[in-house]
Amino acid sequence: MRATSLSATARPHVKPSGPGVTIGSRHARNAVFTVTAVSPPVVQPPRVRADACPGVLAPHDAADGALARIRLPGGVLTRAAARAVADCARHHGDGAAHLTSRGNLQLRGLRRDDPDALSMLVAAGLVPSSTHERVRNVLASPLSGIAGGLADVRGVAARLDAALCASPTLAGLSGRFLFAIDDGRGDVAAQAPDLCWRARTATSGTLLVAGTPIGAVPLTGVVDVLVAAAEAFAGMSGAAWRTAEVLDAPGRIAASVFGNEQHSGATEWHDGAVRTVPEVGQVLRDDGRAALVVAPVLGELAADDLRLLARLSPEVLVTPWRTLVLPRGGAAERRALAAAGFAVDAGSPVAKVSACAGSPGCAKSLADVRSHARTLTVTAGSRTHVVGCERRCGAPHGPHRAVVARAGGSYETTDVVGGDGRHSQGSSGRTA
Ligand code: SF4
Repeated sequence: MRATSLSATARPHVKPSGPGVTIGSRHARNAVFTVTAVSPPVVQPPRVRADACPGVLAPHDAADGALARIRLPGGVLTRAAARAVADCARHHGDGAAHLTSRGNLQLRGLRRDDPDALSMLVAAGLVPSSTHERVRNVLASPLSGIAGGLADVRGVAARLDAALCASPTLAGLSGRFLFAIDDGRGDVAAQAPDLCWRARTATSGTLLVAGTPIGAVPLTGVVDVLVAAAEAFAGMSGAAWRTAEVLDAPGRIAASVFGNEQHSGATEWHDGAVRTVPEVGQVLRDDGRAALVVAPVLGELAADDLRLLARLSPEVLVTPWRTLVLPRGGAAERRALAAAGFAVDAGSPVAKVSACAGSPGCAKSLADVRSHARTLTVTAGSRTHVVGCERRCGAPHGPHRAVVARAGGSYETTDVVGGDGRHSQGSSGRTA
């Protein structure tokens, strides 16, 4: 396979990337960073098995064939990449690419050792590292630099991706480990990232570990600090996959990255920013032009959909809310995508419904949930996620209605307050 010849470049120490930023292997030496708060200890049950998160080189064996997850740092899908994924889905998969709740793409129904499929994805630049492909989980505020936000973080995800792939230490991170670069609006910071930089001004922000702020970091130092923090986590994680699973990870990472003396000077943190997720529909850009946010039915992009997107825009941003941003998208693009079945208005029920793979793709599923979910895309009035079992894969992080298949062909409906989809309240009911 062509990809197996790829390898990461050794990177013994973090290098400075901006003025006033100097980070050694243990901590920051310049007084650029200040610790703002450190959380109380958080303890999660220890992991008893290795992470099996799928990638392109290590697909998951699903009931409908191999499932390959393509990481898209920052959600960026170029025109060439969209065409490559379309061809791969059409000729080697189930005919579609599926959006994930982390802003990635999945191909299903592949043959496990299909060298042609792999070659197409590698040639399109979608597998830049054979050693780090599963750890390239980087969210960035999709509308940054387009509309709103405090800082313009475009390009930071790509630089972080390159730095991740250049760190041999970080090849050992779990495939569940998540980075986020939030431009201040709080959208991707709310996706439960392990490490997050969140803008407080146009040029500075705060580093958060498992949601806990640990220090101020300038925009110019984001990449170096995130890599240093991830390397610190790798050194303390043991069998843990996520920062929330390690006892006092925020405090220990703060001590490693910023130094113990700064760690002791914790102060209070106020999270006053409003969390604003891009809504489906036309968006007025800061430059007065138009951008467009659209949603495919059940997060499924048929090969023809991908080719249409590639024709309409040189770049599309995949969001963790199973929507797509066209940075420049006016009335013509809106009409073309509406004609292809995309939701193009915030009120569309299509934009409110998502579903897991269900039967026949997932052997654990108790029902063909996607068929059921398609009926809801006509009527849904609130955010709804339909799943085939209690694992509730792909559940939104915010409030939503969970529709869970039960044995015997019924579904149980529960109103979920938020979090990871397992904390719920309110009434629940069954439908045949
Ligand atoms: S929620 Fe259950 S049925 Fe759906 S994909 Fe996950 S494991 Fe499979």
